[in-house]
Amino acid sequence: MDYALLHPADQLVMIMNRIYRKGMTTTSGGNLSIKDDAGDVWITPAGVDKGTLNRTDIVRVHEDGSISGPHKPSSELPFHLAVYRARPDLHAVLHAHPQALVAFSIVRKLPSLRLFPSVGRTCRSLRLAAYDLPGSARLGDKIAAEFASGTDIVILENHGVVIGGKSLFEAFMAFETLESSARLETVAHGLGAVRELSDAQLSLAETRYHLTMDDIVFNTHATEELAARRDMVTLIQRSYAQGLFNATNGTYSVRLSDGSMLITPYNKDRAYVQVEDLVRVKNDMKEQGKTPSRAVRLHGEIYRRHPEIKAVLVAHPLHLMAFAVTDAVFDPRTIPESYILLREISKQPFESIYQNPSSIASALSDRVPALLVENDSVITTGDSLLKAFDRLEVAETTASSIILSGALGKIAHITPDQIEDLHKAFKLDRPTA
Ligand SMILES: [Zn+2]
Repeated sequence: MDYALLHPADQLVMIMNRIYRKGMTTTSGGNLSIKDDAGDVWITPAGVDKGTLNRTDIVRVHEDGSISGPHKPSSELPFHLAVYRARPDLHAVLHAHPQALVAFSIVRKLPSLRLFPSVGRTCRSLRLAAYDLPGSARLGDKIAAEFASGTDIVILENHGVVIGGKSLFEAFMAFETLESSARLETVAHGLGAVRELSDAQLSLAETRYHLTMDDIVFNTHATEELAARRDMVTLIQRSYAQGLFNATNGTYSVRLSDGSMLITPYNKDRAYVQVEDLVRVKNDMKEQGKTPSRAVRLHGEIYRRHPEIKAVLVAHPLHLMAFAVTDAVFDPRTIPESYILLREISKQPFESIYQNPSSIASALSDRVPALLVENDSVITTGDSLLKAFDRLEVAETTASSIILSGALGKIAHITPDQIEDLHKAFKLDRPTA
């Protein structure tokens, strides 16, 4: 689907619904606009419930300043217009008061863009604008002055965030990525010192392998492949709804019995992935006309080394990532379910995933079915897609429980004798230590 061909009113409703459903705005806070190719600005209305917004509620502001629509435009129209004047290259402005970015806004600090690579890739720079009265021309001037410097993201002191984009979808991706990274930063601070990536590490992550693969044409599609496409899309959408994925993050793959794999596409909003978007890859060649996820080489290395692994998931969920960006040890001996599924999950250095993906593949085993990669991701594997997904869910909920327990007291881990009993009862192989 080409989202640029959707009417601005429909785009605004679609994205406002996504923001509201994800709890990133309240019913009264937040406003979005699009500047169309003729120069008219379409903006969400003032005083209409965000939970029930529809296309006929959207207000059109003509270039001459006249307004059409059943409602008054958002009270923040002045700063939307000021941003478009300062930056003719922008075609969308998104404003909201999401919780984590507001936390930064009220302590007047900027969140890091260096916690993991896709954050810096999606959000290049950001600035802080001084406080002023909501709806005022002065606030518009202060915001526009920051946009004029070239940044597309401005945090407003004691207020929220304004993000500009070439399209509303682009602005939304930056918004969702930044809010989740800001939330990660606040949660990780509770675990220890938060580690940022250096310039050298960030450039290491700019791999190009996925862009240079040769094409292959697949003339037949076995029902095994069609079932895998269907199941992957179902789980990708569920992962998005549960916050295991966001728009710009997360890669799932499934191995097929002919040795090929299906993998999520590069640079495609995860919330909209459909069966035809998944990319089939065989012998380092990719399905003609598609580009696989940047992580395709890593997935291939894992399948080459482990014939028993049938699915690999790479994701960036909040609580696991808090362990990935700090030195906190993630110990799954919390409840039997966590130990049985995660066993000796370990943490790998950031560089290994880019410089030496085969070292990541060789770190995996029956005893180590999942890995954390510093400042990058969590990797889970399984002998089926559902098993790998279960592992990802269990890992994330375990991480969340460990973090919540920090406010209550010291964790009493399951003892070595109790672990021994789990091995006998569930026929697990021997622990290494
Ligand atoms: Zn506001």
